[in-house]
Amino acid sequence: MWKCLNCGRKFENTEQHHFCSEPPKTIEAYIAAQTEDIQLRLLEVYAAIKVALPDATEKISWQMPTFWKGQNLIHFAAFKKHIGLYPGGEATTALAEKLTDYKTSKGGIQLPNNKPLPLDLITEIALWCGRNNAK
Ligand SMILES: [Zn+2]
Repeated sequence: MWKCLNCGRKFENTEQHHFCSEPPKTIEAYIAAQTEDIQLRLLEVYAAIKVALPDATEKISWQMPTFWKGQNLIHFAAFKKHIGLYPGGEATTALAEKLTDYKTSKGGIQLPNNKPLPLDLITEIALWCGRNNAK
């Protein structure tokens, strides 16, 4: 358990990204709440997913930007040193051989903030989610 020293909430993951006060309600608001340098990168990730999932509903779920169609297809989130992409465990398993350059966790991929974003890969992952995660 990790406790945020600012708001006092407890999270399973250390340094879990969250909003200490009122959380943003749209993806745009979420991105606007980040520091400037990461905003541009988040916009690129957002655009890459949007192209792949044009008919998904956009919302905030689990405090993260989310594309939804019957159920959550994919989330992303900003961290101090990376952007987290969360297509789910089946996706990271199915696409494992394309993710060897990245740190992955169950269902998540870390895109380091000091490296170019793999936008083609992000689109491919989002397309996979559209085909396999939708209900
Ligand atoms: Zn907090």
